[in-house]
Amino acid sequence: MPDLIRLLPDAVANQIAAGEVVQRPASAVKELLENAVDAGATSIKLLIKDAGKALIQVIDNGSGMSERDARMCFERHATSKIETANDLLTIHTLGFRGEALASIASIAQVEIRTKRNEDELGTCVQIDGSDVKNQYPVTAPDGTSIAVKNLFFNVPARRNFLKSNTLELKYIIEEFFRVALVTPQIAFYFYNNDKILHQVTASTLKQRIVELFGNHYNPRLIPVEQESSIVNIKGFIGKPEFAKKKRGEQYFFTNGRFIKSPYLNHAIENAFRELIPNDAYPTYFIYLTIDPKTIDVNIHPTKTEINFQDVKNIFAILQSSIRQSIGKFNITPSLDFEQEQGMVIPPLPPGAQVKQPTINVNPDYNPFEKKVQPQIDLPLTNREKSNYDHWQKLFDPLKELRFPSSASSPDEPQAQQTLSNWDQIDTAKGKSDVIQVQNRYIITFTDKGIVIIDQQNAHERILFERFLSAMESNIPASQQQLMPQTINITHEDVELLKEFNADFEKAGFEITGFGKNTLLVQAIPADCLNENITDLFEKLLESLKTSREDPKTQPGQRLARSLSKSLSLGRNRKLQPEEMNALVEQLFACKIPDITADGKPTMTIIGFEEMKRKFK
Ligand code: ADP
Ligand code: MG
Repeated sequence: MPDLIRLLPDAVANQIAAGEVVQRPASAVKELLENAVDAGATSIKLLIKDAGKALIQVIDNGSGMSERDARMCFERHATSKIETANDLLTIHTLGFRGEALASIASIAQVEIRTKRNEDELGTCVQIDGSDVKNQYPVTAPDGTSIAVKNLFFNVPARRNFLKSNTLELKYIIEEFFRVALVTPQIAFYFYNNDKILHQVTASTLKQRIVELFGNHYNPRLIPVEQESSIVNIKGFIGKPEFAKKKRGEQYFFTNGRFIKSPYLNHAIENAFRELIPNDAYPTYFIYLTIDPKTIDVNIHPTKTEINFQDVKNIFAILQSSIRQSIGKFNITPSLDFEQEQGMVIPPLPPGAQVKQPTINVNPDYNPFEKKVQPQIDLPLTNREKSNYDHWQKLFDPLKELRFPSSASSPDEPQAQQTLSNWDQIDTAKGKSDVIQVQNRYIITFTDKGIVIIDQQNAHERILFERFLSAMESNIPASQQQLMPQTINITHEDVELLKEFNADFEKAGFEITGFGKNTLLVQAIPADCLNENITDLFEKLLESLKTSREDPKTQPGQRLARSLSKSLSLGRNRKLQPEEMNALVEQLFACKIPDITADGKPTMTIIGFEEMKRKFK
């Protein structure tokens, strides 16, 4: 019997490779655009006809190629981007596999015109399904133009498999976005059937996003910026209220490359939990920069998936930096801080560990010390303090914002008048710029406008964050009961509470006996002071039951949410000035001060600008 195995001719091998690399016109668009970016172009033109089925042409003003390279680039495994296997560890180009042009040329009619700056004449090469038909010198501008005609002309199965023009064009636009969103320094012109579809000039990242998605995105974007020894993160997220019903505007890049990472996507979506409805998807444009040695790009032919060595830490850093950004910038939409850049977060010193945020508990706190305390007066923890300092800068409700007379502008004497009156009333009582109306709303003001706070919702948010961080840090602020208390509830309720036992402990409860119809409570969280424990458990059970439908929420979050609701101030309660001040202070120290865990607003702001308009 003769030997059976033979080497496939290159043309066949290329067609097989094309099966992986070029699945549809959009894949060819991606490869050609990436080559133009790698060639250092500052301006790239994309021309599409018949959704890429008739023509895909990319024209760049990049490096161009020599006569020899213009022919070589269509060979299999021909690349100028790496030389040795070691180079795979330091990849800084989008391409490196040297198979895109060979694959495309095996399944289409391709014409390339290219010229280097140092050459007098350029080169034109024409290829039909891997057959070089023609090569000759041409006059051409610096750079490269590649025209891909009649894609899949020799692979009818593939051609028939293509979708409608509308859908194929949609895929192409998506690929175009994925390249254009990470190369704001490059100008792009995208023509579809001779009509301009997108034209973007060289600009900043934010401008690029806004140019591609529309001006209305400008006020929706919150900057994200975090440097660390493991990874640098920057980019923008959409404010929670603009989350979409469809997963779509989610762009994640690593070292200049669009990447699909369901795991890290999770980190981002986690950061939005509690803030957007369960069936909504946050918008994001996130860019990681990471040492190429710590990732592997070469695990997928289209290079859209990579392995991260340190993926757990990246997850944690990503989630926390997005949380921080939301906390800092997610104030009601009427306030625009005109902030282009993120806050400066100092980089981690090299080698430093990334820690989860914790809260500090006063070790000298004596739970048995009897003092009549207003319900809202725990001192700010360090974490809260630093949040607060930040808010204070943006939004100081207490200090500089007392409307000193020098701040008045000549065209608003009336407002000035009224506000100084308030000031006098409050000054008479002590230091305070807060008043309470209807035993329910707290009104204060800032240099931007008047803030109306709903005391119950605000308190819910404060307590929610406090319980959550106590649970996360495992340092509950707890209060021993002088006598253990027995609570009588139904058997079903006992079973329900048992599910949360671990979280109860983290929150500061100590429940020693779960009987058939009873609980034995030894300690309760410090925040439950003055509470009738039986009432508390009743409220808690009711709230836990109503939050049951939400399967995405973790038990700890559910408990924190229920506790915050059960313990929050009522709507019909007179507050002392110190209590109001503490409430305002603590609210602005929250990571996400403007809504409750259930998404109800805690405050509303009437901007002075808006007010001015109202009185015109
Ligand atoms: P890869 O990008 O993985 O190197 P390709 O098949 O996409 O492989 O391209 C092969 C080579 O052709 C590239 O390495 C590059 O040297 C050259 N090349 C391709 N497109 C361009 C371009 N637009 N401008 C300059 N050189 C190009
Ligand atoms: Mg390439």
